[in-house]
Amino acid sequence: MEGKSLQLLAALRRAQSITQTGRELCGSDIITCEAHGEQFCPDCGYSFTEINHEARHEARRRKAIKPPNTALGDGLLMSGTEVRMPDTTGENNPPNHLDGQIGGVLIEEDEETDFAGEQCYVIQYGKQNAYMITYSVESVHEEWQVKTNGQYVSASKYMKLLSGDESDEED
Ligand SMILES: [Zn+2]
Repeated sequence: MEGKSLQLLAALRRAQSITQTGRELCGSDIITCEAHGEQFCPDCGYSFTEINHEARHEARRRKAIKPPNTALGDGLLMSGTEVRMPDTTGENNPPNHLDGQIGGVLIEEDEETDFAGEQCYVIQYGKQNAYMITYSVESVHEEWQVKTNGQYVSASKYMKLLSGDESDEED
């Protein structure tokens, strides 16, 4: 038992001493082992791959964010546009909508998301926009709502209003 707790102590000490910060292409801070500079190091017995994966993609998202009212491209909502992913589960009273704002746009490279390879909005939400998610442009336009004049309308309707097409077939 004593041997085991000593081992644990040694592992903890090692964990505290290995966190060397490296810099990568996108400017994210990644963690590597100190001895070899590896994210996944069998010699040291550490894997920082998952943590670094998150940091890297978060840095890409942060980088994509533009100041409010920046045009992001043809047929795209502007940055700063207030959007809502409606809670359609019917399980929450009141409904648990996700309210946020368009931060920017990128091609999602994170293979662990549902939208890998797709053009996605970076949506900021939470207190002081502390959180970010990516959601495909196509899905936002089809499923989400946009706040205009104090109320939420479907994004598709909002896009029509923007394009000057007043015909109102769907809602
Ligand atoms: Zn190592």
